Amino acid sequence: MMRRFSIALMGGDGIGPEVTEAALTVLDAISEKFSLNFEIIDAPAGDARLKKTGTALPKDTVNAVRDADACLKGPVGESAMDVIVKLRQMFDLYANIRPAKSYPTINALRPDVDLVIVRENTEDLYKGIEADMGDSAIAVRVISRKASERIAEHAFKLAETRGRDVVAVHKANVMKKTCGLFANVAREVSQRHMKVSFREMYVDACAMSLIRNPQDFDVILTMNMFGDILSDEAAQVVGGLGLAPSANIGDKKALFEPVHGAAPDIAGKGIANPVATILSMKMMFEWLAERDAKCSKAAQSIENAVVGVLEKGIKTPELGGKKSTKEVGRAIASAILVK
Ligand code: ATP
Repeated sequence: MMRRFSIALMGGDGIGPEVTEAALTVLDAISEKFSLNFEIIDAPAGDARLKKTGTALPKDTVNAVRDADACLKGPVGESAMDVIVKLRQMFDLYANIRPAKSYPTINALRPDVDLVIVRENTEDLYKGIEADMGDSAIAVRVISRKASERIAEHAFKLAETRGRDVVAVHKANVMKKTCGLFANVAREVSQRHMKVSFREMYVDACAMSLIRNPQDFDVILTMNMFGDILSDEAAQVVGGLGLAPSANIGDKKALFEPVHGAAPDIAGKGIANPVATILSMKMMFEWLAERDAKCSKAAQSIENAVVGVLEKGIKTPELGGKKSTKEVGRAIASAILVK
């Protein structure tokens, strides 16, 4: 019998509708090849929705995300804070997983990078607790034992499947209380995962090492804001934002989205790279594999197809290619079907 998954699809703003449409072409190919059936539930959110209805994240969209098996999301523009940050908190999507992997023939700094940033997704300065104080302004940095422990567990479990190591990234020499707590908890959790080697690094040293020897990293465990910054850097190391996928994972729900934003400078031109969104969909299949083993094969087939297409030079302009968003999406879909 054909397995049916419901996917809440958030097209988003700017290049969002273009890259998610290309991802749907790939989803059709997966459906055909692996006899998986998908129900796509439209889940509009973002600037366009705000303009039309006065709210960036309508109730119906929240319900669609709640009811669906998984959510695939395009980037949102100015209202991102009211959409993705809210969804992360609403559904307690505490683990932001951002892989940076070198794919062949890409203008990456090195060909042998394969790392994953595991970023705490619910607190830190991104809680948004700020206040004006006359001529100054303040922000509150929240780091809790509970959130630090569950993200550290996630990182060590991931490292166990990858067989390498975890580096906890912080700045505990300056932020002794907040980073200090995070580092202490990471050390405690490391004691429960003795097969995984563990080291620590200050965030500034990590930013430098990511350029100098990115191949030495496996799993980087860090807090919300450091993870946000380091993951853009890591994306550039392996070829740019157009190739960088991500997952927001909680105990019950998960949402998958490209790392990049709405990129208004290239929106509507049909030249945005859909690979980041298509690789985010690959991560969605890895997550769904717990429910249906075929999804694991689907994930692998998406990655193989992406590699094959890039090797053939079928690329969007920011990677030096001449192909459109749609052409790259169709080429990946065809590669899935022929293999
Ligand atoms: P945000 O703050 O929401 O992350 P941003 O404006 O800082 O957004 P992005 O929208 O992610 O940054 O894009 C930065 C630049 O990277 C864009 O101007 C665009 O040229 C390029 N870019 C981002 N995503 C893509 C993509 N999928 N394909 C091609 N170029 C992209």
